[in-house]
Amino acid sequence: MSKSLKKYDVVIIGGGPAGLSAGIYTSRARLSSLLIEKGAVGGQIINAEKVENFPGFADGISGIDLTTAMHRQATNFGLETLSDEVTGIEVKGKEKVVKTPQGHFITKAIIIAGGSERQKLGVPGEKEYTGKGVSYCATCDGAFFRDKSVAVVGGGNSAVTEALELTRFASKIFLIHRRHELRATKILQEKLLADARIEVLWDTVVEEILGDTFVNQIGVKNVKTDKKALLDVAGVFVSVGSQPATGYLKGLLDLDAAGAVIAGDKLETGVPGIFAAGDIRSGSIRQVIAAAGDGAIAAVNAGKYIAE
Ligand SMILES: Cc1cc2nc3c(=O)[nH]c(=O)nc-3n(C[C@H](O)[C@H](O)[C@H](O)COP(=O)(O)OP(=O)(O)OC[C@H]3O[C@@H](n4cnc5c(N)ncnc54)[C@H](O)[C@@H]3O)c2cc1C
Repeated sequence: MSKSLKKYDVVIIGGGPAGLSAGIYTSRARLSSLLIEKGAVGGQIINAEKVENFPGFADGISGIDLTTAMHRQATNFGLETLSDEVTGIEVKGKEKVVKTPQGHFITKAIIIAGGSERQKLGVPGEKEYTGKGVSYCATCDGAFFRDKSVAVVGGGNSAVTEALELTRFASKIFLIHRRHELRATKILQEKLLADARIEVLWDTVVEEILGDTFVNQIGVKNVKTDKKALLDVAGVFVSVGSQPATGYLKGLLDLDAAGAVIAGDKLETGVPGIFAAGDIRSGSIRQVIAAAGDGAIAAVNAGKYIAE
């Protein structure tokens, strides 16, 4: 049967911790539920080698193990998963239509849990060498850089986590940060600064990415001295922030100045029956525990909306 006209009680957009948690709750409540994920199920946290602050795992757990278990838990209750990208939503009275290239899905409620997308550096060579040395995910691509020199660009938790993850493979890691202070939490900073394979280049920006078939150098500049240099690296991991994945929601939902979805106490947006959960929600603290909590709240309230 074509999937294009299939009906669900709830469609969940995004398979990170927020969407997976929502899926556990809606499926367990016997609401027919479809989760649509455009990339890898698990969301951003699959980039974390070890999650140390999710309750219940005293010795930490990898992001992949954590979200694989969440997905299995939701699937056990009947959650369906589709690998596709949601490109639009149409509201027809109480009925909502979720649009993807594979088809349209009719649903009573929608939980938007699309998280955020990595920001680009925007320098020459970045686009050209993406997949040829430029990466946005150390967990996905780190193994390609065994015994090589690499650069990580950024200064927040994600960048520091990426640099630490790369110590498993690379022989040398430059962490390039445009300021003189990291934004990452103290515990991550301590780990980073204690690792002899990581060299932090403070007050430095990447100006260009160079190579032939693959990346072999980057041009950097110290913003205080204006001194320029070329670094020999085989890989560049870009970790300079993220923005809410709400491009397809403009005009339908209220977004804040950063593009995150504005939702009320019940995590319902201005459109009845459409809920927002996790990093995509305005005011989110952008942590797994909060995303999972949001997923549960949105799911319970979606159930109440449908029952009404
Ligand atoms: C390297 C790294 C380390 C981190 N470490 C920690 C940590 O130790 N502890 C912690 O609590 N948090 C950590 N975080 C933050 C944590 O990963 C996020 O807070 C959490 O993943 C947010 O979950 P989410 O479900 O809201 O969004 P996401 O995890 O971003 O998942 C959203 C999903 O939606 C999908 N999607 C988006 N738009 C669409 C669309 N239109 N159609 C279909 N699918 C779509 C995306 O592909 C993505 O898989 C880390 C993040 C990174 C990057």
